[in-house]
Amino acid sequence: MAFIITIDGPSGAGKGTVSAKLAHELGFALLDSGALYRLTGLAARLNQCNFSDSAALGEVARSLDVEFCSTEAGVTIYLSGQDVSQAIRTEQAGMDASAVAAVPVVREALLQRQRDFAKAPGVVADGRDMGSTVFPDAQLKVFLTASAEERARRRLAQLQDANTGESFDYDKILQDIEARDKQDSERSSSPLQAASDAVMLDSSDKSIAEVLADILSLYRS
Ligand code: C5P
Repeated sequence: MAFIITIDGPSGAGKGTVSAKLAHELGFALLDSGALYRLTGLAARLNQCNFSDSAALGEVARSLDVEFCSTEAGVTIYLSGQDVSQAIRTEQAGMDASAVAAVPVVREALLQRQRDFAKAPGVVADGRDMGSTVFPDAQLKVFLTASAEERARRRLAQLQDANTGESFDYDKILQDIEARDKQDSERSSSPLQAASDAVMLDSSDKSIAEVLADILSLYRS
């Protein structure tokens, strides 16, 4: 049986980095569920889908042809054979992901795909509804938060590192983060919220190493 650790929380709280390091440390698989929503948004754009056509978006999610390839340098993500690892990390891709994530048939289409990541010895599942919906029986659930300002600072640094060719502005990023928080928490289908049995961790004043150590000690206790 797989040991399941869920790491949920808003954008930019550090979930992605912490989850990747945790999975590496424990030898577990990594589920980056946000990437699946980003891929659905990108595929919808490439197919020129109308974002208000739920049935078409559901079909895009159902027929996603994706592959995650782990290398020492990180994970390369392919959509229909094309490397889209950078294309899905733009701010536009984040907003598109958030839009398609609000569509119930899209969430339904991605549910089993996410559960398939749970293989022995374990999985670290990073997202918004991992503990509440996708893996309600997970052995360890963490809800990682940080102030919107700190998350905007981190996102700015991350986007500058990713070198996608876009130019960035802190105020615009903060605005986008607040808009995405609002959209993610107010949607009717699986809104962003902590599972009732999740451990709350605030990473605002902590380094990645400190957050990682906190989660490892929860796992080992
Ligand atoms: O985590 P990331 O920023 O890559 O996620 C992109 C978007 O996908 C989020 O803003 C959210 O709307 C959506 N998402 C979701 N449920 C998840 C993971 C991501 O709704 N489990």
